Order: sequence, then C-alpha cells, then structure tokens
Amino acid sequence: MIFSPNNQSWTDWTWQHANGCKDLTTLNGWLRDRGQSSGFDESSFLELTSNYRMGITPYYFNLISTFDETDPVYRQIVPSAAELVILPEELEDPIGDEDPARGSRPLKALIHRYPNRVLLMPTAQCAVYCRFCFRKRLVGNPAHNAREDDLQAAYDYIQNHNEIEEVILTGGDPLTLGDKSIQNILKALESVKHLRLIRIHTRLPVVNPFRLTVELGHIIASLGKPVWISSHFNHPIEITATAKRQIQGWVNLGIPFLNQSVLLAGVNDTSQILKELLMSLIEIKVKPYYLHQADMVQGTSHLRVPVERGLNLLKELQGELPGYALPHYVLDRPGGLGKIPLQNQYTI
Ligand code: SF4
Repeated sequence: MIFSPNNQSWTDWTWQHANGCKDLTTLNGWLRDRGQSSGFDESSFLELTSNYRMGITPYYFNLISTFDETDPVYRQIVPSAAELVILPEELEDPIGDEDPARGSRPLKALIHRYPNRVLLMPTAQCAVYCRFCFRKRLVGNPAHNAREDDLQAAYDYIQNHNEIEEVILTGGDPLTLGDKSIQNILKALESVKHLRLIRIHTRLPVVNPFRLTVELGHIIASLGKPVWISSHFNHPIEITATAKRQIQGWVNLGIPFLNQSVLLAGVNDTSQILKELLMSLIEIKVKPYYLHQADMVQGTSHLRVPVERGLNLLKELQGELPGYALPHYVLDRPGGLGKIPLQNQYTI
C-alpha cells in the first residue's frame, strides 16, 4: 500500500519523487484506496491535462482529508474541470517572463527583469504541478530543462554583468535536482565575485520535505555566500510535523527561510486560515515574505480572489499578528512590469 508512512521508503525523497501520481489510472487507484473516485473519464482527463500535466507526491496526497475540491490540498493539486474555462483576459505568460520588448529572457536558462537580480532556471521539472502555477506554459516540459551549455552561458552572463547582486534559482523546482547538480550550480555562482546573495525558490519543503536532507543542508550552509530558501506554504495544514522537523534541521545549520504564498479561493481566503498559516510559519522561523495575488494565468479563474477581498483580508489581519508576520500583498503586473504592493492602498 503506497500510502502507508510505514512504507520503508516513505522518508526517502527520491522515492517520493519517483512514485508521484502522473496519470488518471494512478489517481483513481490512490483514490480507490480511500474509497473515493476522481469522477473523470479518460478523454476528459486527457483534455484537461494535455496542456498542463498532473503531478502529486504520495506525501502531499496524504495531506488530503476530503476527497473533493473543498479540500485545500486537493484543490491545489488535482486537476479541475474548471481549468477548461479560459477568460479573454487570461494569458499564457501572465507576468511577461518572455516579453521580447523588455528583453527579459536573454538566455534559455536566465531571466533578467530587475537590474541587480536574475532568475536562473536550471530545470523545468517540479515535484508537483500546482494548478495555479504562473509558469504552466513551461513547467514539466523537458524541452525547457537547461543543458550544461545553457547553464554555462548563464554563468558567463552573470559574470559579465557586474550589476547583478542576487541570483534566484527557480524553474521548475531547483531542489528536484540531485545534490551534485545543485552543488555544481552553487559553486559556479560562489565564484562570481560581485554576486552577494543566492536565493532558492522551492515547493519541496511543502510537498516532499524529505528533500531537506542533512547532506544537502551542509552543501548549502557551507557555501561562501548566503543562500536563502524561499518556500511556498499556502495553508497551515501543509506545516506538518515532518515539514517542521526538516526545516528545523536546516535552520539549525544557519540557513534562513522566507515564504511566499498565493491567495487562492477555497484554499486560504479567510483571515482565520491566513492568521494560522502566518503564525505557524513564524513559529518555525520562516519569515512570511509575499502573499501573491494569483496571476491572470489561463484556466485559473476558479482559484482567484478579487483584489478588494484580498485587501479586506489583510486589514482583518492587521493587529492580529506581529508586524513581522505580515507578508507584502503583491500583484505581478502583466507584461513584465514587475510587482506592485497592494496593501499600500490602505496603509498610506
Ligand atoms: S512548484 Fe512552483 S513552479 Fe512548480 S508547478 Fe508549483 S508553483 Fe509552479
């Protein structure tokens, strides 16, 4: 039975990664073990996932308690028929990663949107495929994985641009790579004198926290430049005893954590849930950084919360939380125009 945490391989991150749910047969099998069914027939499921695949780790699936779209984990990860609704204002590339007018993606593996920082994308692979992802157009597609020469071109670019102070590893999820690959990337960045900071954006602490191994923690902690981890917890139920323990292990090594959440309808759009999420993050020494207004990505209208409601939620949270537990509520403007803080509209 795959869903027993007593399964000897359960705590092995590579086992979790290799045994994810990627097709309808597996999904129905996992649901059948719980006395449930997805309700999809093969052709409607194929239509739904032909443009954007499904991926769920056994660990993350195990956090589902109600097997329908009212469950905050199920809603984030199991495809929904609502994804077939595409509004005219929704975009394939909602934040303008690829916008040639801005020259923001000069290389396959690198996006340069802000003068002093770049995104480095070593892989398009993720551990799970979040239904709200703003990079749906490329994640999960091996054609977007960086090859060694793509990475070398990115290192040369960073080396030749003295204004770059921070590199953000993203993708895809960089922590799906093996230790050696991650170490090689970090070492290449460490050798760039003018680079001051490295950040790793990852959902692994949420969906496969066993990836936070002692070995990888030591590789990161021993680097000659500071490496910040930016995790992606959206709901307090995701902060399990396992996630807490694994993060604690890296925090004890001196690795600092931030968290970015996305405001999602039916997942975390109440002040009670957000308060619990933010307090729980602070308790495990993870600083809430951003609460993102969900991007205008195609097929995600059922998950978006109106900005006005988001602002009201933030107002309700003020006074309920210490100031350092409040994230910035931000919107990534279409066309690569960058983030704007939304809560300034009521704090000024
Ligand atoms: S882990 Fe991040 S990049 Fe990957 S699908 Fe989820 S939101 Fe998108």
